[in-house]
Amino acid sequence: MWHPTLPPFRKFKKQQLDKIALISQFIYQIGESPILRQVSSSVNLNEISTIDFKKKIEYLKRCMRRYRKIAGMGRGITAVQVGIPEKFSVIYMPEIKNELLIIINPVITKSSEDKLLYPEMCMSVNPAIAPVVRPSWIEFEYYDEEGIKKTWDRRADDALGVMYNRVLQHEIDHMNGVVNIDLVQSKDIIFESDPVFYKNAKFTKVNLFKDQ
Ligand SMILES: [Zn+2]
Repeated sequence: MWHPTLPPFRKFKKQQLDKIALISQFIYQIGESPILRQVSSSVNLNEISTIDFKKKIEYLKRCMRRYRKIAGMGRGITAVQVGIPEKFSVIYMPEIKNELLIIINPVITKSSEDKLLYPEMCMSVNPAIAPVVRPSWIEFEYYDEEGIKKTWDRRADDALGVMYNRVLQHEIDHMNGVVNIDLVQSKDIIFESDPVFYKNAKFTKVNLFKDQ
């Protein structure tokens, strides 16, 4: 007798989608507002020390922590994702910085020729995963939350360096209205449906035959 073949990981998907319902209460999702596809405006440096801007940073930090509490993961969030179309991000970086790194108005000055493939999730594109190819590291200048100019030049020499360089590129893209799924073909988009898929995700080198 015929029975329908139901899709796999149904119980897991239910848990995932319940989390997404909570997350989408405070994180904008693609398609529901044009701001995720627009270039955010640069932060006026005179504003960094104002109470209003500090409030925005605190709010973004709170959203980061809240996301991590719900999802149990999450490394970067950019202001536009919580409805503030201005160029700043919060990166969860407990291994390097005092928990959270703030980057304001980053400008990329160098990027590696080596490229890596990695299946990226995005808080605004749940539950899709996009296998995106990006340089393994970048260098950029930015302002911190005190308004001091800094340089990011940590190379992808170890697992943490690889991961942070990836997260930072993803967040800087958000400031320019680019979302991870824009960088792949639609047929390559994966649905987060397997409890171990993302846990086991690995970076893969893609340009094995670069001429150098
Ligand atoms: Zn994202």
